[in-house]
Amino acid sequence: MEKQQITLDLPIRGEYDVIVVGGGPSGCTAAVASAREGRKTLLIEATTALGGMGTMGLVPAWCPFSDLEKIIYRSLAQKVFEESCACVPNEPDGKLDWVAINCEELKRIYDEMVEEAGVTVLYQTTLCGVNSENGQVSSIMVSNKSGLSLYKAKVYIDCTGDGDLAIKAGADYETGNAHGLVQPSTHCFVIANVDTYAYEHVVNLKMHGQRMGEESVCVKLMKDPELDLIVDTHFCNSMFAPGAVGFNAGHLFELDSTNPEAVSAAMAKGRRLAHQFLKGLKKYAPEAFANAYVAQTGPLMGIRESRRIVCDYRLTADDYLARRSFEDEIGRNSYYIDVHHSSEELEKVVKGEFDSNKRYERYGKGESHGIPYRSLCPVGLQNVLVAGRCIGSDNAINGSVRVMPPCLVTGEAAGVAASMACEMTQPDIHQVNVSDLQDTLLSYGAYLHIDQQ
Ligand SMILES: Cc1cc2nc3c(=O)[nH]c(=O)nc-3n(C[C@H](O)[C@H](O)[C@H](O)COP(=O)(O)OP(=O)(O)OC[C@H]3O[C@@H](n4cnc5c(N)ncnc54)[C@H](O)[C@@H]3O)c2cc1C
Repeated sequence: MEKQQITLDLPIRGEYDVIVVGGGPSGCTAAVASAREGRKTLLIEATTALGGMGTMGLVPAWCPFSDLEKIIYRSLAQKVFEESCACVPNEPDGKLDWVAINCEELKRIYDEMVEEAGVTVLYQTTLCGVNSENGQVSSIMVSNKSGLSLYKAKVYIDCTGDGDLAIKAGADYETGNAHGLVQPSTHCFVIANVDTYAYEHVVNLKMHGQRMGEESVCVKLMKDPELDLIVDTHFCNSMFAPGAVGFNAGHLFELDSTNPEAVSAAMAKGRRLAHQFLKGLKKYAPEAFANAYVAQTGPLMGIRESRRIVCDYRLTADDYLARRSFEDEIGRNSYYIDVHHSSEELEKVVKGEFDSNKRYERYGKGESHGIPYRSLCPVGLQNVLVAGRCIGSDNAINGSVRVMPPCLVTGEAAGVAASMACEMTQPDIHQVNVSDLQDTLLSYGAYLHIDQQ
């Protein structure tokens, strides 16, 4: 795809200072940050709720919020996290890493946050085109119940995960690893009526070498020929309410999230996979799962990786390894490089000869790297920012910055930057005064290392 120009003559249905497309973690903080600066802000979301992968994708846990010492994803990110934690009373107080998510509660938290900030939200509305010239987007076309219509803003923020808006406006992108392979997808699901005591104390549902051996449930599931869709031991699970366990389990390889036919087929396969997990759990962990059932599969397919927009700076694995700080950093990240194995690596994984979690060294206590503002600024576009998992990055570090805590942080920075660009006669996000941007972010509590270089 992909530049696409609008050739229809449609009326302008609304005019805003800032339009954010995509209401996942980055889109929510981007919209709130923009509205907080006094900008008239519209948030457009294709589904019926905010939160993206963390709600409609049923991702069951927050990646770590700490650098093993303290919270480093602060301000709006910390607010979302703390409100979410308060809804999961079975998790210990003060836990910062891998806290379970109650997706329904998280939807409400985002609803309240954007409403309090004065953001207008349009659900069930999909971006399907842009009108742009010389890198300046004048309007976007959306499709919803009222048909096709146009919305106009001074600045646009692309938080679609797939970089839909930036691509349609003419931005370049990268995708996949050196072989062009994207990370596998996972269709997350919830199993309910689980025996809480047996889940916590009797059955062994760990993965990744944590007590994993022939006796562990995920190895038995993988080896059972009746469960042919379970091809590896990817098996993250978190109890988020009494008897209710969220699963981020199984892999669907080489799924192109921008191919509607492929995603449609994968949704059906994902639902079959969830059914196989339940069948296997009843067989191998009956103490906990004998009376359980699949309560829900994700309304959204769990896409780990798709397009990475070419931006003024390409964040790389080398930046991660060097714990690099940047003069224009707008946040910091300490999550490890989490690139799940590809189909090419599967055979070695199954034989126990390769562990994707050990591709890169992990950080020690207090270590992190900066995320530069330039990695949110698409080359060639004047009034479009990107935030969330599609920021300018290589395949490896994308495995790190794609997770929700850094996405919340890049969203907030993009929202403030968009507001600053609105001050310009001809908004140009590349000309935002980064020092002022950092001062504003710091005033809201951001964690930066700009004075430590
Ligand atoms: C299977 C899986 C497991 C994961 N596990 C974890 C984990 O344990 N912890 C963690 O912190 N992170 C995890 N992640 C990563 C994380 O959830 C996502 O990468 C993160 O949510 C990305 O945030 P985002 O705001 O960029 O986009 P998304 O969360 O993908 O949200 C994008 C939003 O944009 C909307 N949208 C897309 N296109 C359009 C369009 N054209 N028009 C209108 N709206 C549109 C979508 O409906 C969606 O709501 C996981 C991801 C996956 C896929």
